[in-house]
Amino acid sequence: MIDRRDLLKLATAGMLLPPALTLASGKNGLRERLLAAQSSPVLRRDRLRDPIVIESVELLRRDEQFFVRVRSKDGAQGLALTNKQIVRHIYPLLSTRVMPRFVGRDARDLDKLVHDVFVWGQNYKWQGLGFWSCVAWVEFAVLDLIGNLVGAPLGELVGERIRDRSAIYYANGDRTSSADGVVDQLEELIAISGAKAVKFKLGARMNYTDASTQRDLELIPLARKRLGDELTLFTDSNSSYDVPLAIRIGRLLEEYNYGFFEEPVQFDHLWETKAVTDALDIAVAGGEEEYSMRRFQWLIENAALDIVQPDLLFFGGFVRSIRVARMAEAAGLRIVPHMSGFGLGSLHVLHFASVAPNSMDYQEFKGDKDGLPYEVIGTGKPLEAVDGKIDIPSGPGLGVRFDPDYMKQLKPVVL
Ligand SMILES: [Mg+2]
Repeated sequence: MIDRRDLLKLATAGMLLPPALTLASGKNGLRERLLAAQSSPVLRRDRLRDPIVIESVELLRRDEQFFVRVRSKDGAQGLALTNKQIVRHIYPLLSTRVMPRFVGRDARDLDKLVHDVFVWGQNYKWQGLGFWSCVAWVEFAVLDLIGNLVGAPLGELVGERIRDRSAIYYANGDRTSSADGVVDQLEELIAISGAKAVKFKLGARMNYTDASTQRDLELIPLARKRLGDELTLFTDSNSSYDVPLAIRIGRLLEEYNYGFFEEPVQFDHLWETKAVTDALDIAVAGGEEEYSMRRFQWLIENAALDIVQPDLLFFGGFVRSIRVARMAEAAGLRIVPHMSGFGLGSLHVLHFASVAPNSMDYQEFKGDKDGLPYEVIGTGKPLEAVDGKIDIPSGPGLGVRFDPDYMKQLKPVVL
C-alpha cells in the first residue's frame, strides 16, 4: 500500500497523481455532486401509499413485435413495446435473466429493483447495451402500470412536469445518397413536420473514406445554403473520424453555424472525445452507446462532452437516465436523450423532456417506425409533429392505447 511519504515523493518527482486521486474533492465538489446524483431517488413515492406487488411479467409476441406486460396483484397492467430490431436477438436474456427478478416485488421499490436485477444471479457479467435494454423494457412496463394505477403520465412519476410540448429535430439516417439527395430528404422531413431543426449523417459510420469525406465537405455548406440560416442543423458522425479529421470537420461546422456535432470519434474512446471537445467551439454530443454510469461520470466530470445523450433504452430506462441528467445538470451541461427509433422511442424521450430541467429545446424524432396501430390517449391519433412541435401525452402511463384487436393476437413467449 502506498503511504503518504511515497505520495509526496511521487509529487516532488513530478509524477502527477491520476485524476481519480487528485480530483477526490476538487472542482468545487463536482465529484461529490456527481456521486450523489448517481444514487439519488428517482421514482416519486409520495402518492404511492400502498404496496404495488408485481404478480407477473410476461413477454408477448406477434410476428416481429414483442411486448412486455406487467400485472400487479390488484389487477393493474402496464405495457412496453420493445425495439423490434434489438429484441429478436436478445429476448431469451430478457425472459430468463431480467423478467423473473421483478415478480413478487413491490413496484414502488423501482429504484432498488433496477440495481438488484443488475447484481442478481451474476447478471453484472452480462452488462452491456443488450442487458440494460432488457431492464429498460421491464422498467417502462412497470412505470406504465404505476401511471395507470394513479392516473399520472409516465414523466410525472419520475419528476415535476415542466413542459407540455416540445420542439423536435427530425433525424435523417441516409449515408448512401448524394449531398443534394440528402438535402432533398431533409426538405421533405421539414415539409411533413414543420421541424425547425434537423440532423443528418456524416462520415462512413465507424470509419471514413475519401469518398465519405468528399461528401461531408460538400454536404455541410450545401445544407446550410439550401435550408437557410434560420434552421438549426445538427450532425452525427457515428464515430467515423480520428481526432484530426474530427477537428477539421468541426471547424467547417462552426463556419456554417451548426448546432451540435454528435459522436465525432470512436464512442468509447473517452480521451479522444475529450480532445475534440476541448479543441472545438461547436458543442460536441455523445453517449448513445454508453451503458456505464461511471463512464458517464468520467465524461461529465472531465467536460469531455458538451451535450449528454443517454439512450433511454440502451442505458436501462428512466431511473438511470434521470440520474445522468442530474449529473449533467450538476456540471451545467445540457441533456438530450438519444432515440433508438423503434419501440415508440419518441414517446419516451418526450416524457423524459417533460421533467428534465436541463433538457435541450429539441427532442430527437424519427417519425413512426413501428407501424403499429395505436393512438395517443386524448387525441385519438398517433404521435405527430405540428409546426415542429409535439404535445407531450398527458394520459396515464405512456399515454397511448394500442388497438385491442391487434393486442388480442399477441401470444406469450415461453422459453
Ligand atoms: Mg447518433
